[in-house]
Amino acid sequence: MAKTERRPLVAGNWKMNGLRKSSNELLRITHDAVKLSRQIDLVVCPPATLVANFSALARGSRVRIGAQDCHPEPSGAYTGDISAEMLADAGAVMVIIGHSERRSYHKETDAQVRVKTLAAWRAGMTAIVCIGETRAERESRQTLDVVGRQLSGSLPEGARGENLVIAYEPVWAIGTGLTPTPSDVAEVHRLIRARLVERYSNAGEGMRILYGGSVKPANAGELMKVENVDGALVGGASLKSEEFLAIAAACG
Ligand code: PEP
Repeated sequence: MAKTERRPLVAGNWKMNGLRKSSNELLRITHDAVKLSRQIDLVVCPPATLVANFSALARGSRVRIGAQDCHPEPSGAYTGDISAEMLADAGAVMVIIGHSERRSYHKETDAQVRVKTLAAWRAGMTAIVCIGETRAERESRQTLDVVGRQLSGSLPEGARGENLVIAYEPVWAIGTGLTPTPSDVAEVHRLIRARLVERYSNAGEGMRILYGGSVKPANAGELMKVENVDGALVGGASLKSEEFLAIAAACG
């Protein structure tokens, strides 16, 4: 399948940022998003406390709301956790799973990412599964092995273009201002596509593979042109409506 047949997706990961007053930023995004090509999907993933509020505010616009993590179980004695069903009930249509900050601060494993992905599907959401190598792994030329291993361990059977998005996020590029070269990005995305097709046949062609890690308006054009890059997962720059929308415009 040609890159042009997959709808680009630009997802904003607000991480642990945002209060109710941040709805002004969301409203600027929903208002100005009408200027973008209709071919791009836009998702904002605020902290869980804002999912219901943002979903209500974004209703009727082309911006959809996502979440940043979910518990594998639908309900139960898990103090402080939030289930996929709760996020879907609050209006989330996607959920980021296995972000490197969760893999590192919460010691999340590929096996946990896999069951969280199943939980997202059970609740009717699309999972954005994050993978990526550390700086030491890149320097010791293990990038392709690490990414291949994370992919096979983190993904369940039954993935399709509609329920799964992969985000390739080199850990060393997140929040650092550093990015891999376009040819390094191309090499990793080529491997991811090949593994997805090997495992899911034709469905693997339809899955979107996002690049994430210090995407800014200034580098988005170059990164989004790379073969098998179907959009971006944006952290810091997604907190400012103009930057988020400028990155989305670079995908069109
Ligand atoms: C992220 O945390 O998913 C991310 C890509 O962050 P940043 O864009 O700030 O590097």
